[in-house]
Amino acid sequence: MKPTIKNIQPYIAEAPVQAIQQAYHLDHIARLSANENVYGASPKVYEALQQLNQDVLNYYPDGNANDLRQALSQLTGIAAEKFLFGNGADELISLISRVFLTSDSNIVIQAPTFGAYRTEANIEGAEVRAIPVFEQNGHTDFSGMLNAIDEKTSLVWLVNPNNPTGVFEPVTDIENFLNQLPPDVVLVVDEAYYDFVNNQTATALPLLENHDNLIVVRTLSKAYGLANLRIGWLATNAAIHRDINAIRAPYNLSSYQIAGGVAAIEDQDYLQKVVAGIQDERTKWLAVLDSLNVPYYVSDTNFLWFKVADAKRLGEQLLSQGVQVNSRLNPQWIRIAIGLPEDNLLAQKITSKYIHTAAQ
Ligand SMILES: *Cc1c(COP(=O)(O)O)cnc(C)c1O
Repeated sequence: MKPTIKNIQPYIAEAPVQAIQQAYHLDHIARLSANENVYGASPKVYEALQQLNQDVLNYYPDGNANDLRQALSQLTGIAAEKFLFGNGADELISLISRVFLTSDSNIVIQAPTFGAYRTEANIEGAEVRAIPVFEQNGHTDFSGMLNAIDEKTSLVWLVNPNNPTGVFEPVTDIENFLNQLPPDVVLVVDEAYYDFVNNQTATALPLLENHDNLIVVRTLSKAYGLANLRIGWLATNAAIHRDINAIRAPYNLSSYQIAGGVAAIEDQDYLQKVVAGIQDERTKWLAVLDSLNVPYYVSDTNFLWFKVADAKRLGEQLLSQGVQVNSRLNPQWIRIAIGLPEDNLLAQKITSKYIHTAAQ
C-alpha cells in the first residue's frame, strides 16, 4: 500500500445535532459549526426531487450531467464544456490532487485554510508549504506565496473568501498573482463562499479566458443550502479538463444531485434573499464584536472568525447553551457560522458574557 496512508488521520465529522441534544439535555441546537446554511435550500429543489420519476432509480444517471452543465453555463456565461462536477467540491479537490501531485512535488497554501488540500497532499506524499496570512487583517501574503514556489511546486490553492478567516481578496490581486506564476504551476481558486461576497464581480472565472493554468472551484453546499446533496463544480480550460475528467468516476453525480442542482441554480431569487438575510446578520454580529473590542477579521462569508483568550472554553459555554461552533481550529480563534436571527442573538449574548467575565 501507499506508505503515506498510515499517517493520515480520519476527518472528525461534526457531532450529530441529536447526539448533542441528548448529551446536554437541550431541545434546540443551533448548528453553526460547519458553515452550513441554516436558512435552507430553495423549496423548488424539493419539488424537483419529488418530481423525479421512480423508474430512474434502476438506470445510471447522465454521466455528463448535461442539464446541470447548461444551467451553470446560463448562470455564469462560461462555455458548458469547461465544467466538471464532483460529489461535493471535496471530490474535486481530491481529483485535482490525484492528477497533479507526486511524492516529488509540493503545494503552496495559506495558513489557516481549509484542511482538505493538506490531507490530499499528505496522501500523495507531496510537501505542503503553508504561508501564514497577515496576522493583523487576515489578508493573503501573495509575495510570501510566490517566494515559496520552486521548480517542484505543482499546485497553489487559494480559497477566496478564505475559510476559516472569511477574508476576501479582490480578483485584481489574484490576477496579479496569476501573472507572476510559472506557467506550469496550476492555481486553484476555491470559491466555496463566493455568493456571500458583497461584490458579485469578485470571481476568478473571467481569468480563464487568458490563463490555462487556472481552475475555479465552487460548491452548492454553502449559499445554496445543499450540503447534504453533495454538488461541487469546477471550471477550467481544455488540457486540465481532459486530465481531471479522465480519472473521474463515470457516474459521480446521481440524477437527484443533477435535478436538485438545476432547480437551486434556477432559483436565483431565493439565493439572493437568503444571502441578503445572512449579510444583514453578519453586519449585526460585527457591530457586537466591535462593541466588545474583540479582534476579528472582516468576513465576506456566512461565518465569522474572532479571537478570544480561550476558544475551547467559549466553545464549551456556547455548546452547553445550545450553540454548536468550531473551536478546535485554533486555541484562540473561534469560527461561528451566521445562523437565524434568534440563534445569533443567543450566541452574541453568551459571547458578551464570556468576554465580560474574562475581563474581570
Ligand atoms: C465547505 C467547503 C468545501 C466543501 O464543499 P463540499 O461541496 O460540501 O464538498 C470546499 N472548500 C471550502 C473552502 C469549503 O469551506
